[in-house]
Order: sequence, then C-alpha cells, then structure tokens
Amino acid sequence: MARILITSAIPYINGIKHLGNLVGSQLPADLYARFQRGRGNEVMFLCATDEHGTPAELAAAKADKPVAEYCAEMHAIQSEIAKGFALSFDHFGRSSSSQNHALTQHFAGKLAEAGLIREVTEKQVYSHADGRFLPDRYIEGTCPNCGYERARGDQCEECTKQLDPTDLIDPRSAVSGSTDLEVRETKHLYLCQSQLKDQLDAWIDSKKDWPVLTTSIAKKWLHDGDGLQDRGITRDLDWGVPVKKGDADWPGMEGKVFYVWFDAPIEYIACAKEWADANGKSDADWQRWWRTDKGAEDVKYVQFMGKDNVPFHTLSFPATILGSGEPWKMVDHLKSFNYLNYDGGQFSTSQGRGVFMDQALEILPADYWRWWLLSHAPESSDSEFTWENFQQSVNKDLADVLGNFVSRITKFCRSKFGEEVPAGGEYGPQEQALIDELTTRIRAYEGHMEAMEVRKSAQELRAIWVAGNEYLQSAAPWSVFKEDPERAAAQVRLGLNLIRLYAVLSAPFIPHATDTLMAALNSDDRNWPEDVAAALSALPAGHGFTVPEVLFAKITDEQREEWQTRFSGTRS
Ligand SMILES: [Zn+2]
Repeated sequence: MARILITSAIPYINGIKHLGNLVGSQLPADLYARFQRGRGNEVMFLCATDEHGTPAELAAAKADKPVAEYCAEMHAIQSEIAKGFALSFDHFGRSSSSQNHALTQHFAGKLAEAGLIREVTEKQVYSHADGRFLPDRYIEGTCPNCGYERARGDQCEECTKQLDPTDLIDPRSAVSGSTDLEVRETKHLYLCQSQLKDQLDAWIDSKKDWPVLTTSIAKKWLHDGDGLQDRGITRDLDWGVPVKKGDADWPGMEGKVFYVWFDAPIEYIACAKEWADANGKSDADWQRWWRTDKGAEDVKYVQFMGKDNVPFHTLSFPATILGSGEPWKMVDHLKSFNYLNYDGGQFSTSQGRGVFMDQALEILPADYWRWWLLSHAPESSDSEFTWENFQQSVNKDLADVLGNFVSRITKFCRSKFGEEVPAGGEYGPQEQALIDELTTRIRAYEGHMEAMEVRKSAQELRAIWVAGNEYLQSAAPWSVFKEDPERAAAQVRLGLNLIRLYAVLSAPFIPHATDTLMAALNSDDRNWPEDVAAALSALPAGHGFTVPEVLFAKITDEQREEWQTRFSGTRS
C-alpha cells in the first residue's frame, strides 16, 4: 500500500471563492485523493484557510468585526461549502492555529541558527490616525506621472508606473483616509534566499519527472536578472504569528509578526498536527507524514495549485525547508492549473463576476459542478465556463449517458424480473467483448488518474459509461426477453453489475451519485475493479436492489437562461 500526502493551495480567508478557484486546486486535489483511497492506498489530504495579512484585517474592519472573530466565521463558512462540494480533506485547518504559530516560530529559529536570516532597517510610512505602519499598497495619493488621484503606493493603476509611497502627491491612508502620515525607520527580518540558490538549483535538477513547464518557471526565477532575492519575512502588523526564535523572544522584533507568505505554506505541515490534535492522535502519527526521519521516507507528496503559485512552491517554501536543515518531507510532484474564465471574461472576486461556490450549490447539487469543472479543467491552457457548454455537458454526459443507462436497466429488470438480480443464462462472446473493452479502458483510466491528467481521465470515464450504453443498445434485452428470457436475464445481470462498477469508478468525480447508486444496489462493495470480469459478477443472482430516483435531471433552456441572467451582473 502506497502512502500519499496531498495538499491543495490554501484559499485566502477574505470571502467565498468562485468556481475558478475551486477547479484550480481543491477540486482536482480531491479527485486525486479519492482515486488513491479507492485504489486502497493510504492518503493524507490537507487544506486550510490562509488567514494572516492586511487583506484579512481590512475585510474584518469592513465587516465591523475583530479580525480573529471574522476569520473564525469565514473559516466555518468555507469549511461548510467545502463539505457541500464533497471535498474530502482529512483536515481543513487554519494558518492562524496555535500549531502553525509554534511551527512558524520554530522554522524561523532554525533559519536564524543557520545564519540565513538578517536584519534590515527600512523606511516605511506610519499612520498616526491608524496607529500602524501601512504597507505600500495601502497608501493612496495623486500619481506624479499622470495625475490620477487614486494611485497606490506601489503602482499607479491608471498609467501602470511603479511607485514608491513617497512619490505620491498628497498621500493618505487607504485604511482611514488620514493624511497624518510620517516616514519612520523600522527593522525587518529577511530570509537569505540568495544563499540557498545552489541548494535549490540542485534540488530542482533532481526532479527528473517534473513537467518542463514547472522546472522552467522555477529556473527562470532562480537565474533571471539578479537571481533569487532575499525576502522580507516580517511585517509591522498586529494580526499574525508573533516574531520569535522558536520559544524565545527576538530582541528588537517586539510587536512584529511574520509576513503571511512565510507562515502560510508552513500551515501545510502544521495542518497535519492540527489533524492529530483534533483526532486524539500522537505527534508520531502526523510526523510519519512529514518527517523523513520519522517514517515519511516512503511518502509520495503531491501539491495542487494555480500556475501563479508555482514559483512559490518550487522556491520560497522549499527555501524555508532546506534552510532549516531538518529532514522535512519535500514535494515530489506539483500539479498546476491555468485559469478558468467566465462567459467571455474573467471570474473576479473583487467585482463579484461569475459563479461563487455558495451560489453554485444553491442552484444545483455538487456532482453537476464537479463533473463539468473536472472534465473541463484548465490544464494545458485556460478554459472557459459558458452556460451553454455546462448545460450540454450535464445533459449529455450525466443525464443521457450515465443516468439513462442506470434508469433503463433497473426499470427493465423491475418490470420483467422484479427488484433483484435475475438468475439464469450465461455471459457469452458479446459480454466477453465488453469485459475486454472495459479492461483496456479502466487500465487507461487508472493511468491518466495516476498521472493527474484530469481531462483525459474524465474522457476515459465517459467512454467507459458509453461502452455500457452501446452494449445495452446492441444486446437489447427488451427484444431478447420475448424469445430467450434466460439470455435476457444474463444481460440484465451484467447491466446491474455494471452499475456497481460505474459507481466505484466514478466516485472520484461524482461521489454523491456513487452513494446514491450503491444505496440503490444495496451494496457497500467499493473494491476497485482490478479484475473486471470478477467485478461484473460481484452482485449475485437474487441480490435485491431498488430503482433509484432520477440520477441527474436535465438542465432546461429556461433554467439556463435564468442563471445566465442572474450571474451576468455584479454579486450583491
Ligand atoms: Zn499614473
């Protein structure tokens, strides 16, 4: 049994995510986790909310809530929606957890011991009215270049000129609007990533099986221009992990916190400790996933993320781990995604454009979305959600192909043989041909799933459903029954067993439909079909079943038009 550690990029806390976010990491990660569990492997699937940083503070202020309370509420909401989409995390943690505080401080201490952290004195804008330092992007003023009055301290959005906050004319706080600002000196810690360049280079070179796209992105960041730069890991904020060296205070860094980019990926690890603590497990139980000196040597670690996150996962986080000098498990495979666009434009959280996860579940069950999103995953290029395509895909693949097969065979059986698997007859050459085709296709499906080729996997699964339909169409038990009821019985027996086979194979994509089918078949045999012929005899003659409700309802033109209108504007 293989042991597979899976993490999905952790979503930021400040709001509900849209379907583009979902298909960019959490959903394909869930597909892979479910597949590996289905194959009988041991899986640890972790995700969490990313809760620190100024955007969380500002979102909390906007909601008129203390930031800790705001994050707790948003975490509960995101967690509930994840359950709605059947995302099967072993734990959905929080980067603000005490476990992540301790581990982040631990890593900082180890990096300091290794001489990889240096102090830098910087000038930063302090707002008296807000009682805090302001990050560059939270200072607004008039652009010296084009006169735009709402230019940000890091860049003018109008003329795209890169700016320093001190360049702005009439600068003011974007938080409070106050102009009572002052440039002050402040001290920050920098992680000396430049010193880790050779180690990172060698590590990336050792990844012979990574896609070229991934290694080339990493190499570009590592070598282009001045190469990998040292990076600030602290901030003058209240909300975050207090700066400490392990358990000890860090003289001169009082009142400061670690920068969110530093603590967020450490939560991948801390999340496992959260899982252990929440489930009465020991430290050894989570460390066997993360420490190569404590059992993680044979673990395969796979990360899922959007393409914009690749440099971060190939350089920044590995720099933290390598720099610590400790034997932490590092990533074996990265699976990254392009963007999903929405109906001729982009999904936009800030503009509320597109379908958001909570809204999606209000109008249709999760499986409809899971199937469309995964079968159209933006793998080799961006892909686009349109309501027409969604309607067509659901109606054809789910309703016409899979749903119709289930409905025909169960209803025909009930009317001619009653609600149990019929006895009599034998499987003949036609059935053997189907078994041969299914065997070939199922092995191909496994190969695509193992390689995390999401679209190819969906295509193969669909072809497996189609093969059953084609068999049923040509076997035509409803005609055969009149002449040779024994033969029809064998055909129906095969068909009912095929439903169970489909339920097992389809679980990674449409887990709720799998549950419905297994309940209707009165079976809990979810064993993966290593031997297809044996799998198609799993339900013996006499085994009772019930005809399931309509598995997938078709989307009508009226519904499609209504949703198209409803989601065309801005989210209120
Ligand atoms: Zn400008």
